[in-house]
Amino acid sequence: RTVPLQRALISVSDKTGLIDFARSLSARGVELLSTGGTAKALREAGLSVRDVAEVTGFPEMMDGRVKTLHPKVHGGLLALRDNDEHLAAMRAHDILEIDLLVVNLYPFEATVAKGAEYDDCIENIDIGGPAMIRAASKNHAFVATVVDVEDYDAVLKELDAHDGATSYAFRQRLAQIAYARTAAYDAAVSSWMAAAIGEETPRRRAFAGTLAQSLRYGENPHQSAAFYLDGSMRPGVATAKQLQGKELSYNNINDTDAAFELVAEFGTDKPACAIIKHANPCGVATGANLIEAYTRAFDCDRTSAFGGIIALNQTLDAATAEEICKIFTEVVIAPEATDEAKAIFAAKKNLRLLTTGALPDPRAAITTYRQVAGGFLVQGKDNGAISLDDLKVVTERQPTEAELKDLLFAWKVAKHVKSNAIIYVKDGATVGVGAGQMSRVDSTRIAARKAEDMAEAMGLAAPLTQGSVVASDAFFPFADGLITAAEAGATAIIQPGGSMRDQEVIDAANERGLAMVFTGMRHFRH
Ligand code: 5GP
Repeated sequence: RTVPLQRALISVSDKTGLIDFARSLSARGVELLSTGGTAKALREAGLSVRDVAEVTGFPEMMDGRVKTLHPKVHGGLLALRDNDEHLAAMRAHDILEIDLLVVNLYPFEATVAKGAEYDDCIENIDIGGPAMIRAASKNHAFVATVVDVEDYDAVLKELDAHDGATSYAFRQRLAQIAYARTAAYDAAVSSWMAAAIGEETPRRRAFAGTLAQSLRYGENPHQSAAFYLDGSMRPGVATAKQLQGKELSYNNINDTDAAFELVAEFGTDKPACAIIKHANPCGVATGANLIEAYTRAFDCDRTSAFGGIIALNQTLDAATAEEICKIFTEVVIAPEATDEAKAIFAAKKNLRLLTTGALPDPRAAITTYRQVAGGFLVQGKDNGAISLDDLKVVTERQPTEAELKDLLFAWKVAKHVKSNAIIYVKDGATVGVGAGQMSRVDSTRIAARKAEDMAEAMGLAAPLTQGSVVASDAFFPFADGLITAAEAGATAIIQPGGSMRDQEVIDAANERGLAMVFTGMRHFRH
C-alpha cells in the first residue's frame, strides 16, 4: 500500500539529527506526535507537535516508565489498514493511524559503559520504546520503523521517490533492522545482568551486537564481513579511536585485538610491547622504557614483524614512534599517544594509529564464542593466571630468581599463542616463538630455528635462546620437546605437567641440569 505518510510518532533519546528530520517530515505535511523530551525539543525548534499524553489521555508517569504503553498508541501502530474489523476498532476507540515510528532507545549500553550504578542501569532499560518498535515492525505492511539516526536521510529520499509514501520493500528492510536492534538491546541487558550477578558463563544467553562497520571484505577478498559491537564498551579495538590511516580490515581487527589483549596482561607498571602477525605474537618484551620494549620485541623475529601489528601498554612517545616508522607496520594500538608521536606518524599515511584511553582488565569476566556448523561454542575467556606460589618445582635444581621471572613472563605470553605454543624468553623478552603446530616438538624446533636465523641476521655469536627459559602451553607428552629446548640452550621450563610420561620428562630435565616448574594449569588456544 503506498499512501503518503500522514502521521509520525517520534520518541528519541539520542536527538542527533532530530530537528532536521522532523522539519523535513513536517514540510511534507506529516503530523508529528511526540513524547515529553522529544516534543520539547521539537517545539523549541519551532515545529508544531502533538503530545502523546494528549492522544492517550494519560500523563507520562512513573519517571517515564509509562509513556506510550497505551492502546491508542499500540492500536495505531498495529492496526491492519485493510481489515474492516481493525478499522472499526480504530473508529470505535478513537485511535489514530501512525504510519511512521521513529524511536531510538534509552542509552542502556552507554550507561553501562560509563560504569553507572545498578539502579541507574535498570532505569535505562527502555520498555515502551522496544514495545513500539516491535509493534510497528510487525505491521511493516503499513508502518515504517526507524531506529537509527543514520537512516533518517534514507527515509526522506524514499518519500521523495514515492510521492510522500514508503515502499513495502523499504519498510521490510527497516523492520529487519528494527528487530536486530531490539534483539541486541535485550542481549546487552542480559549480558550486563550476567556480569552483575557474577555469572561468567551463564547457561542461557543471547548473542547479539550492533553493527559498528561494514568491512570491505573478510579474511579473503571474496568473503563479505562486518564488525559488531557487543555493547560492553571494553577498551580495545572495538571502541578505540582511529587517529589516522585507512580503514581497518577484518584481519587487522582480529590481529589488533590479539595484540592488545596480550599487552594488557602486563598492566601499566612496566612498559611492554607485543607485535602480532596472523593472531600470534612474533615478539613480546618489556623494557626500561617503551622504545626498549619495542626494540626487544622486534629483535625476537624481525622478519615476521614486517607488516605486523603493534600493541603498547603505555602512551606512545616520539622516540618509540620514530623507531616504529623504520619498518612497515599495519596498526599501532596504545592507550594514548603524545602529540609528537602523532605528528611523526602523520607522515606515514598507511599506518593506522588507534588509541583506547585505557587497557582492558585481563581478568574481566567475559564470554567468548565461536561458530561451528549449526551452533555456537561458548566459554569463559581464559582468565587463568598464576603466581610464584602456584608453581611446583619438579626438578632437582631450583630455578634461579632470574629464571623464575622469565618463566612467569613466558607463561603469560603462552596464553596468547596458538597451540601448540612454545615460547623462549630471556630477560623479559621473547627470543623464539613456536605457534600453531600440530606437534609440540615441531613448535619447539621452529622457535629455536627462528632464533638461530635472527642471530645470523643480527651477527650474534649465538642465538638468544642460549640461557633462555621456555614455556609450553600444555604438557610435554614426551621428553623430545624438552630435549630440543635444552639443545637450543634453554635452562628452565614452565609447563602444566600432567602427562602420563611426566617422569620421563623430569628425568630428561634432571640429566641436563634444567630446572622445571609445573603450573597445574593449561593455556590451550586454538
Ligand atoms: P523523551 O526524550 O521524548 O521524553 O523520551 C524518549 C525516550 O523514551 C525514547 O528513548 C523512547 O524509546 C522512550 N520511551 C517511549 N515510550 C516509553 C515508555 O512507555 N516507557 C519507557 N520506559 N520508555 C519509553
